[in-house]
Amino acid sequence: MKKNTIANGSLNTQMPDNKGFFGSYGGAFVPPSLEKAMQDITDAYMQIKEDETFVEELQHLQQTYTGRPSPIYHCKRLSAELGGAQIYLKREDLNHTGSHKINHCIGEVLLAKRMGKKKVIAETGAGQHGVALATAAALLGLECDIYMGTVDVAKQAPNVRRMQVLGAKVVPVDRGTKTLKDAVDAAFEAYLEDPETTMYAIGSVVGPHPFPMMVRDFQSVVGREARSQFLEIKGALPNYVVACVGGGSNAMGIFSGFLDDTEVTIIGVEPGGRGPFPGENAATMAYGKPGKIHGFACYLLQDDKGEPLPVYSIASGLDYPGVGPQHCHLRDIERVKYKVASDRDALTAFYNLSRLEGIIPALESSHAVGYAIRLARTLDKDTNILVNLSGRGDKDMDYVLDNYPLEEFENQPMLVR
Ligand SMILES: *Cc1c(COP(=O)(O)O)cnc(C)c1O
Repeated sequence: MKKNTIANGSLNTQMPDNKGFFGSYGGAFVPPSLEKAMQDITDAYMQIKEDETFVEELQHLQQTYTGRPSPIYHCKRLSAELGGAQIYLKREDLNHTGSHKINHCIGEVLLAKRMGKKKVIAETGAGQHGVALATAAALLGLECDIYMGTVDVAKQAPNVRRMQVLGAKVVPVDRGTKTLKDAVDAAFEAYLEDPETTMYAIGSVVGPHPFPMMVRDFQSVVGREARSQFLEIKGALPNYVVACVGGGSNAMGIFSGFLDDTEVTIIGVEPGGRGPFPGENAATMAYGKPGKIHGFACYLLQDDKGEPLPVYSIASGLDYPGVGPQHCHLRDIERVKYKVASDRDALTAFYNLSRLEGIIPALESSHAVGYAIRLARTLDKDTNILVNLSGRGDKDMDYVLDNYPLEEFENQPMLVR
């Protein structure tokens, strides 16, 4: 492997093909007027990813601004309580702005700047991608417009304010369901109007080529660090690597470090929400079938006509009806297993990690921890599970306490169950 490369692992460096396909998923299904814009971004990215000054600038910011490398932490009390496998966390919650999203936002804004763009635009649901992008834009001196459904604007007031303080313009989207999917549509339309001076900066490993590849590469620092840190701490690789999957960026980040290590079992955890019926969850791999959304092919929760179904999860960062194309391919070749954790599993994990380790996880990350808690109980003490803790839970505190009272959990004989 070349020292300064930002992609890693043969499954990654061989994928996607030059049309952006991971097996039969991915591609770039965009209007003709956007084809050139996507090609320009692809060309620019392929060039800078080999460019040493770019890679050095990115690494310098990762260290001095984001706070990389993020540590790996052994959950001793939680593991002892469970009486099974050892649970370790990759602490992406400790990054500046509190999640893994800053990893790809800095990469995308650096690229936009190199391409001579004046502005980055994006969609946001809960506001996490919007805040991370507004942060990176402030850092690097670009303008930033964030499209957000009016339902989300009302629900996520603190993040709206954060973006405004950071100098971004929040554009309310008052159509359709007034949430994430409509925000993506509106942001794409705005981008269509001015692809010369702006760049679209998508929030996960989704959308048309080159975004699934590019966002994965920017996130792959997580997997690269985790693999060498784990080897250093334990002298061996983890037996399991677990991450939550919304669009799939934090998961692709950590998975990419271990794809070539066939002895490592890799598990993506999707939001099972309240149940298996349409509208109750956002578990795309479990209940979806191949389709197209937002310019790419993937497993999709869809109705008979191929229209995306409404989705739900307690974690607003996970409620997307599609999923990154590389995940779809990794599922089909059976390199990664996809499982489901419910709202309840996530809440149990949320309280357990808080009470037993002093770490309040994001509700998104709580799905990965929740699945790991169940898995750990079925395994012996010498087995190690590495969980990507994608973000911190400060943003979720009010919602959890208002809707799922503490007493409910405290009345149980043991928090872990
Ligand atoms: C946005 C978000 C996610 C979900 O996005 P992925 O692209 O699937 O990683 C997960 N965790 C946190 C903390 C998030 O903010």
